[in-house]
Amino acid sequence: MERLKQVYNPDLFQKEAHQLVDLLAAHFRRMDKSEGKVMDWLSPNDQLKFWNDFLENDSENEISGFFQNVLEKSIHIHHKNYLGHQVSAASYVSILSSMISASLNNGMAIYEMGASASAMEQIVIKKVSNSLSFGGNASGMLTSGGTLANLTALLSARARFENKNVQELLLSQKMALFVSEQAHYCVERAVKVMGWGTEGIIKIPTDEQFKMRTDLLEKYLAEAKKEGKSIVAVVGSACTTSTGTYDDLEAIGKFCAKHEIWFHVDGAHGGAVAFSNKYRKRLKGVDLADSITIDFHKMLLCPALCTALVYKNGNDSYRTFQQTADYLLDEEKDWYNYGKRTFECTKLMMSLHPYLLMKYFGEEVFEENVDRLYDQAKLFASLINKDPSFELGHDPEANIICFRYRTTDSSEEDLNMINAKIRQQVLEEGRFYIVQTKLKGNVYLRCTIMNVFTDQAEFRALLAYVTHLAKAISSGKI
Ligand SMILES: *Cc1c(COP(=O)(O)O)cnc(C)c1O
Repeated sequence: MERLKQVYNPDLFQKEAHQLVDLLAAHFRRMDKSEGKVMDWLSPNDQLKFWNDFLENDSENEISGFFQNVLEKSIHIHHKNYLGHQVSAASYVSILSSMISASLNNGMAIYEMGASASAMEQIVIKKVSNSLSFGGNASGMLTSGGTLANLTALLSARARFENKNVQELLLSQKMALFVSEQAHYCVERAVKVMGWGTEGIIKIPTDEQFKMRTDLLEKYLAEAKKEGKSIVAVVGSACTTSTGTYDDLEAIGKFCAKHEIWFHVDGAHGGAVAFSNKYRKRLKGVDLADSITIDFHKMLLCPALCTALVYKNGNDSYRTFQQTADYLLDEEKDWYNYGKRTFECTKLMMSLHPYLLMKYFGEEVFEENVDRLYDQAKLFASLINKDPSFELGHDPEANIICFRYRTTDSSEEDLNMINAKIRQQVLEEGRFYIVQTKLKGNVYLRCTIMNVFTDQAEFRALLAYVTHLAKAISSGKI
C-alpha cells in the first residue's frame, strides 16, 4: 500500500504541480521571445533509445526531470516559427481546464457522469449553431476529433437514408458518397469503416484552384445510378487540408436539396470562420448543410481533442446509433445523455475549454483569432509573391499557404528534389517548422499560420532561410 499511498499523495501533487506550472510559464515566456528552437530534432530510433534509457535509469527519479525532458523533446507549437500542421497553440486557460478535466475524470456518457460539462456542451453547441444560422432545431455534440465527427455524421446520413428507403434497400442498393479528390483522407476511412468498399467513395475532380467541380455533380449522379448505386451523402470541404480551399457549399447544398441527399460539411479546419464577420462568407451556403464538423483544437484556441459536430435537424443526431425509427417520436430528447449520440462511451470534459474561453475573454476571442490568422496568411502570401524565386501553389483562402522555390532554368524534377530537400533540412535544423505537400504532382512547401504572433519578421526570416538552403542545395553544399 505504501506505493499506492504515494500515488494518491495530495502533498506530492501540490509540490509537483507548482513546479510544473513554473516550468511551463518559463517555457511560454521563451516562446514569446522566440528563444530556442521549434524542435530539437532526434531521429525516431534515437528518440526511442533515449526514452528506453530514461525508464531504466535509476538516477532520473524526479518527476520534474521527466517534465523537463518531455518539454525538450517535443515540438513547440507556441513558437512563432512554428508554421506546420494545423493544431492550435493551446490557450493558457484551456491548459488549466485540461487539468481539472483530468482531475475530475467525469466520463460524460450519461448525465450524472458529467453534469457540469454536459450543460456546458449544450451551450457551446448552441453558440456554434447560432454562428452557422442553423435555426432552432439544430443540435449536436462535442467529440474526439474531426475524423470521428465526420464518421459519425456519415453514420447519421446512412441511418436517415435507411429509414427512408427501406424498399430500395430490399433491392440491395449499393450505397456511396461524393467528395472532392482534395478531401481529407478520413472521409475515405469512414467509407471503409461503413463497409461500402472502394466503390463507395466517388471522388469528384477539382478545378485549377482545387475546388470541387460542382458542375459535374449531375453527370456523376446519373453515372452512379446507372451502376446501381445510391448516393447517400455529399461531403464538402471547408476548407481542404492541403491548400485551405473552400468548396462552393451553396452549389453542393442546392444539388443535395434537389436530390434529397445528405449534405455534410467537413469544416474541421476552416469551419471556424463561422465566428468571423470578415471571413464567414467563405461558408456561403452552409445553412443548406445537414451537418458540419468544426475542430476547436485547430483554429479555436483549445487543446486536442475538441470537435463540434452540429446537425441542422437535431433529430438526426439521435438516430445515428438507434436501432428503431420510433425513437424519433419521443418529444423530449435527453440531450444530457451525450453517450447516446457520440461514438465514444467515456469522453473528456472537452466543453470546459471553449466555455471558459467564451466566459472570460468573450465569444469574440474566436473571431479575433481566425481573423488574425487569415490576415497574416495574406501578408505572407504577398511577401512570397514579391520574390521571383518563389511561386505560390494556389490562391490562399485560409491560413494555409503552399509555395515552392523556383528558378526558371531548373526542370520540374530538379525543383521537386530541391524543395523536398529544403523541407527535410528545415525539419532537422529545427529553427522553423513547415511541412510539404504535392500539388498537381509537384512538391510544395506548406505553411499554416497557427500562431497569431507570427509576423513580418518571421515570414521574412523564413523566406531568406529557404533561399539560402536552396542555393546551398543547388550548389551541392547540402
Ligand atoms: C484536420 C482535418 C481533419 C481531421 O480532423 P482531426 O481532428 O485531426 O481528426 C478532417 N478534415 C479536415 C478538412 C481537416 O483539416
